Amino acid sequence: MRPDTKFVHSGGGPDRQTGAVNPAIYLSSTFEQTAPNENRGYVYSRTSNPTRTALETALAELENGRRGLAFSSGLGALATLLEDLPSGQRIVAGDDLYGGTWRLFHHHETQFGLSVAYVDPTSTEAFAAALEAGESHIVYLESPTNPLMRLTDLAAVSSLAHRHHARVVVDNTFASPVFQRPLELGADLILHSTTKYLGGHSDLIGGALVASQSDWGERLAWLQNAVGAVPGPVDCFLVLRGIRTLGVRMRAHDRNGLAVAEYLEKSSKVQAVHYPGLPSHPQAALARRQMSGFGGMVSVDLKAGMSAARRFLKALKIFTLAESLGGVESLAEHPASMTHASVPPEVRAARGITDGLVRLSCGIEDSRDLVADLARGLRAV
Ligand SMILES: *Cc1c(COP(=O)(O)O)cnc(C)c1O
Repeated sequence: MRPDTKFVHSGGGPDRQTGAVNPAIYLSSTFEQTAPNENRGYVYSRTSNPTRTALETALAELENGRRGLAFSSGLGALATLLEDLPSGQRIVAGDDLYGGTWRLFHHHETQFGLSVAYVDPTSTEAFAAALEAGESHIVYLESPTNPLMRLTDLAAVSSLAHRHHARVVVDNTFASPVFQRPLELGADLILHSTTKYLGGHSDLIGGALVASQSDWGERLAWLQNAVGAVPGPVDCFLVLRGIRTLGVRMRAHDRNGLAVAEYLEKSSKVQAVHYPGLPSHPQAALARRQMSGFGGMVSVDLKAGMSAARRFLKALKIFTLAESLGGVESLAEHPASMTHASVPPEVRAARGITDGLVRLSCGIEDSRDLVADLARGLRAV
């Protein structure tokens, strides 16, 4: 099946008993056993639940992986993954990460002896040097990064990591499997915040891991049950329902992202626009090589800094001032004071997250209304 067909049909198909085209929402914590320790495949919903199984089957299909696992949040997925690391381990990571990912890595560094080598995510040579410098368990990547929309050459870094016996984890939240499938480029594990594009309607919190290999997938499934950061069946149903329309939604986000990026780039009040679909993006060629579209995330650096960002954001009427991203409605936020406030100011400055930076999540509205709203914002600057 081609991706659009897969999105609609993934997850196991109609219910075998009733023919219902959607999975039932199994609101049951426990399941009857036919004799002590004999069961019908389900025992207790932390371990597994039929609605979650449908979602997990779909997740594996979307990313072309062997094992999909659903979690109660993206960070729940990451926390479970970190439980898999032997103590004293080393991670090599791109240095422009989701703020909460950075915060959890930092906690493990100070509490559990994890060491994280942060490198410029755009530089394959920097990954090579960090891998040479010490034995590493995992290379942890976001591409495009949040909020600066930088890219990592996923195929090159994956083969480099494998030569050093490190596994590659890619947070694929921004691109979604519609536009980028890292397992096909050599990565070993995908992480998603399903809160974002997969759910797609800003109505749930959820996460996912998808493993390319069954052995790592089974170990993570064991940890999923042992740690217990699992989603409820209603949230599983909602993510699966979001996945049905992922293809059409992502193409609408992509159209609007490009329209907004092209509009903002022309303004004299704008220092820079970060969007991998713009020819001016420093890695436009790599973007075209490893992505089939660029989605709805656009960052804009306003020349006049913090005060400009505040005026701009307060003037917007269609873009809602809110954290998060990936829903059908457009959102705008200020990384320095909101999503990335937990990153120390000097670290933010070193990474290019300026006080004038505004991150936009372009929804699926009419692009003319979005552009008119941004014009209103720029007039207020
Ligand atoms: C939101 C987000 C996360 C964290 O996911 P939650 O569902 O909020 O826990 C991780 N990575 C990226 C890129 C995100 O945008």
